[in-house]
Amino acid sequence: MTSCDDHYLSIAIPTPLRQMFDYLPPDNEANLQPGMRVQVPFGPRKLIGIVEAIKSESDYPKEKLRQVTAVPDRVALIPEDIMQLCRWASSYYHYSLGETLLQALPKVLRQGKPATREKIALWSLISPLDESIAVSLKRAPKQLKALQWLSEYPEGLSEPELREVGFSKAILSQLQKKQRVLVREIELVDRLFTEYANPVRQTPLTLNSEQAFALDGILESPSFHPILLDGVTGSGKTEVYLQAIEATLKAGKQALVLVPEIGLTPQTVKRFRSRFSVPVACLHSGLSDGERLQGWLAASRATAGVLIATRSGIFTPLPKLGLIIVDEEHDNSYKQQDTLRYNARDLAIYRAKIADCPVVLGSATPSLETLVNARKGRYSHLEIKSRAGHARPPTLELLDIRQQTLHEGFAQSLITKMKSTLDKGEQVMVFLNRRGYAPSLICHDCGEVIDCPHCDVHLTLHRMPPHMHCHHCDFQTPIPWSCPKCQSKRLQPVGQGTERCELVLEQMFPNTPLMRVDRDSTRRKNALSEILNTVHSGEPCILLGTQMLAKGHHFPDVTLVAIVNADSGLFSSDFRGLEKTGQLILQVAGRAGREKKPGHVIIQTHNPQHPALQMLASQQYSRFADSLLSERKQLQLPPEGYLALFRTESSIAATGENLLKNLRNLLLSHQQDHSVRVLGPIPAPMEKRQGRYRYQLFLQSHQRVSLHRMLDLAVKQLDSLKLPKGLRWTLDVDPQEMT
Ligand code: ADP
Ligand code: ZN
Ligand code: ZN
Repeated sequence: MTSCDDHYLSIAIPTPLRQMFDYLPPDNEANLQPGMRVQVPFGPRKLIGIVEAIKSESDYPKEKLRQVTAVPDRVALIPEDIMQLCRWASSYYHYSLGETLLQALPKVLRQGKPATREKIALWSLISPLDESIAVSLKRAPKQLKALQWLSEYPEGLSEPELREVGFSKAILSQLQKKQRVLVREIELVDRLFTEYANPVRQTPLTLNSEQAFALDGILESPSFHPILLDGVTGSGKTEVYLQAIEATLKAGKQALVLVPEIGLTPQTVKRFRSRFSVPVACLHSGLSDGERLQGWLAASRATAGVLIATRSGIFTPLPKLGLIIVDEEHDNSYKQQDTLRYNARDLAIYRAKIADCPVVLGSATPSLETLVNARKGRYSHLEIKSRAGHARPPTLELLDIRQQTLHEGFAQSLITKMKSTLDKGEQVMVFLNRRGYAPSLICHDCGEVIDCPHCDVHLTLHRMPPHMHCHHCDFQTPIPWSCPKCQSKRLQPVGQGTERCELVLEQMFPNTPLMRVDRDSTRRKNALSEILNTVHSGEPCILLGTQMLAKGHHFPDVTLVAIVNADSGLFSSDFRGLEKTGQLILQVAGRAGREKKPGHVIIQTHNPQHPALQMLASQQYSRFADSLLSERKQLQLPPEGYLALFRTESSIAATGENLLKNLRNLLLSHQQDHSVRVLGPIPAPMEKRQGRYRYQLFLQSHQRVSLHRMLDLAVKQLDSLKLPKGLRWTLDVDPQEMT
């Protein structure tokens, strides 16, 4: 472009306003392109925006337009394909394009900091690991483990890479004092992943015939084709991913692997880093903002061959993208529950289409959405029905606890089985999906339950440290001494959470190590990897935890899995409740007997005849899914129909309800063909949260196009209103949770 007289910049700015803003280019900028960051004056502030387009005219007179104040980069940070993905997401989820584009960047880039690679500190061995070193570190097994790990990486490992596999800075410093390791600062030179002679450092396993068939199905063509990889737990899906990635890397292309939020365990990362010699970048919540930027740059400059990431990784540029894998595709954490309410699994399909590459959705318990797509032939459906190696499927047993005497929630026969398992030198996993000590505290004299003052829920009693906690708004308060209503001192904890269960198990099994895994016990950095390392040592132990234990873990010595209470999820008011419960039960069960020793699963229930439980116990997931699907069909619920949900939150209950009532009336009056049903407004299942009243309006249709046409109209209407103070609305397309 030669002169600034004849062009204007359309800039995406992170505001909820659904529009672009026109600016004039800076005086001396010759090479502006769409996707570049710019700094612009916006009201009294300066903001970072993204060039959305360069235009030759503007609807505004030139003298009214302000000028871009700075251009931080020489290249576009958002390439054309990510721009296209964001445009699609913005229109599908009816969310501001400015905010969509900006959230696609790592935080430090959104803040305007430079997109540069920093120097990094790399740790490596001073001399090769030999027997005498090993002997000298006999009392420091952790340090020895770190040395063994480092010995596999002659080029050295960075601190986050070591932290990911459970080695803290403290361990490294100790080894440094003993002159076993050294650390050097290096400039990160951007060496392309394609420059490595061989992308693979470790010989792959020999696939069994089902795995080989699946791999062929993925590699059949390098162009766009979605695949459901439907393989039972322990069937070796990860090995199939690894070999598909190997082929991708050898073809000079990058692979993107999405994993659930808590599925990105050190063990997963380790498996990938040990297999490939090309850099494997990671993006997850355990990294600092600076580390995230480094991972993002490695992926977007094609110095990393593989990117393993949680949900938001779907927006990372990968200039040579050749394969996308979405592991545990049914997982809830792929859906973002605020701001841009996208589903990363669904965006993965669209992204693969843009990149014209295969996309693999893997799961032992596929979501109904994906199953329907596979059955309708939109996705190819590859199955692995048996476990890999010598592992056999676990046996599942429904334990009828009606009329039985329970010892703090445990039936005698379960306790006996746990004892005998531990006596054999094996490990036991106990699953209880509730953290804290007890889910409620009740007054024995008047029946009052201690509630959250801001939400419609009971406060959970926690013992360590002792306090009452709201799991919805994070409100915390000391444990009351007496009932707020009748002043009685007889307050009693009701129900069982993991903290309480921990105490019970400690008493029952005083000589067995017990490890609790939930959000509270793993808050500290490294806490989870330390626990997992202990479990992997193979000593008999009890592992107690919430759904954090259910996902992706491979514990070879766990042979007994106990599900303390399977009933709570059977009668959920949410239409997806049963689907989620079934997936969770099978995933938890799938932790048992994953290697040579056979696994057994005991499910305690008051409803042993429940048809869903029976199908799950006989491990017939596809029959279970069929029964759910026929129900959804009758009710026209997803995936047999499309759903969108307007929510309001307001300090006065009536303002939210009225807004939605007016919206409903408007939508109904515009509707000619009755292809969209408008239901509500009704109070949300949790009517009050954080001191705000919540209402919902549902839009339901069997035609996606009609639904979206109506959403457009609704959003336009809502945008045009001046809302009363304290009222907020949001739209959730394909909602996962109705809370
Ligand atoms: P999934 O991801 O399907 O739950 P994993 O990939 O974790 O299963 O595999 C389970 C176990 O089986 C792992 O220990 C893995 O090393 C082993 N495994 C996978 N494929 C093979 C194979 N072809 N031969 C022998 N062992 C295998
Ligand atoms: Zn009372
Ligand atoms: Zn609360």
